[in-house]
Amino acid sequence: MMKTRRVIIIGLDGVPFGLIRDLSSAGVMPNTNAIISHSTFRPMRSSIPEVSSVAWSSIITGKNPAEHGIFGFTALNPQSYDLRFPNFNDLKATPFWDILDGTSIIINVPSTYPVRPMKGVLISGFVSIDIRKSVFPPSLLPTLQALDYRLDVDSEKGHKSLDLFLEDLDATLKARINAYKYLWNYADWQVFMLVFTGTDRLMHFLWDAYEDENHQYHSDFLDHFRKIDGVIGEIYAQLHDGDLFMMFSDHGFEKLNSEVYINYLLHREGFLKFRNPAQTTWQNIDDSTKAFALDPARIYLHFKHRYARGSVALSDKESILKDLDALFTSLEIDGKKVIKRVYRKDEIYSGPLMDTAPDLVLVSEQGFDLKARLNLEQLYGKRIFTGKHTLEDAFLLLRDTTTSLPQNLSVFDIKEIIFQFLKA
Ligand SMILES: [Zn+2]
Repeated sequence: MMKTRRVIIIGLDGVPFGLIRDLSSAGVMPNTNAIISHSTFRPMRSSIPEVSSVAWSSIITGKNPAEHGIFGFTALNPQSYDLRFPNFNDLKATPFWDILDGTSIIINVPSTYPVRPMKGVLISGFVSIDIRKSVFPPSLLPTLQALDYRLDVDSEKGHKSLDLFLEDLDATLKARINAYKYLWNYADWQVFMLVFTGTDRLMHFLWDAYEDENHQYHSDFLDHFRKIDGVIGEIYAQLHDGDLFMMFSDHGFEKLNSEVYINYLLHREGFLKFRNPAQTTWQNIDDSTKAFALDPARIYLHFKHRYARGSVALSDKESILKDLDALFTSLEIDGKKVIKRVYRKDEIYSGPLMDTAPDLVLVSEQGFDLKARLNLEQLYGKRIFTGKHTLEDAFLLLRDTTTSLPQNLSVFDIKEIIFQFLKA
């Protein structure tokens, strides 16, 4: 009898290629270093925008946002102007595990809340609200609760105390490890996928601790990766010959120098207006608004045909887009260019959901974190975060196989790599 071909995937949310390269060669991640020595290890491009919900939805479906429908963490209801958070129910493309014949164990992939029935086990990643809707099959719930399973790090703690945050990060990691160990032998699976998301949280709060050896939390930062490397080694040791083993991240990370508030700029330049300037809420957007931004830097024209109170005619589209392009490309802070690239939607998306796609998406220059808060106080500033996402330097680590990889690797290729292997 032919042995089932198996796929084992470890996801590390937000971890850049350069960090894996450096921590593995520096001895912090010795298991990863050993795997790299006989694997393909390459930088990989994220989705645009490079946020987790878009990137992971693209990874699990192999589709682009105009096909799967997830364009960001937020969406604005065109009738009520309520800001909402799209979830797994909004995903319009099929995740790979629903196409396969075999059983899949999928742990902690972001944007898979609420769970729905599938062949195997699905435990939602962030943003998950209620654990009872985060576990399939539901019969697993008591076991996970007994293991003190945690869906996500409590980031609120990070805003109060970094010590409390690190404690919570560690407890969450331990619980995730216990869950994976329990599920490893739970079923005769074809795909086992385990995602660590604490890495993203840690790098948002403490990227500075990674770069600065004298930082109070430098060794805590490294310890988190040391522990994850331990799990990587443990899983790797249990592989069968011929299993496909892959490890990757959904986007990269770098030092954050400044947050830049795009809606401040749009308001200052007269594109975004409020009915009552003292009330800067989404519901209070004035009819005469021409454009606004949703996180991180997706620009939507306030079209008549799309929004209940929209005032932009299709015939005005081209001139507004040109004005916006000029505004964004010339933006400088302290003599530094802020926006690297202004993408029009048809340059980056294609599919049946083009009509709901943002009209422009901005990609920042190094160090600038673009934000779409309705903040009318300042163009730029800095809060607690010291790290931010990047587009170009996610990574892919793939144990030697005959799998052929495209030259410009991106998160959209992951599903095809899995299918190429399983069909071979
Ligand atoms: Zn992410």
